[in-house]
Amino acid sequence: MHEMSLAQSIMELVTAEAEAAGARRVNRIELEVGTLAGVMVDSLRFCLEAAGRETVAAGAELAIHEIAAIGRCPVCGAMESMAGLIASCPRCGQYLVLENGRELRVVSITVDE
Ligand SMILES: [Zn+2]
Repeated sequence: MHEMSLAQSIMELVTAEAEAAGARRVNRIELEVGTLAGVMVDSLRFCLEAAGRETVAAGAELAIHEIAAIGRCPVCGAMESMAGLIASCPRCGQYLVLENGRELRVVSITVDE
């Protein structure tokens, strides 16, 4: 499963950061996931919980923010929300260029020292 390998990479990053900071426990992990990142949030959450077991991040609160996909029209500059990777400008019909919505990143980690 795609989300499991992502969750394992995220947990490796989180536990490495926590260990570098000398933390005993990770309380909270905050993530941003674009709506076009190709990730199911519920599945990612489940996989993160599984991947975090028996690590310093076990039981950490997961705050997952979904970032709406926005495209910009290269011709008229219109900014429009995008439901898929390919969408055209409602004003001039040009294909929109994705500005955001494919991100998957750890925004912050809160630890007990
Ligand atoms: Zn346009």
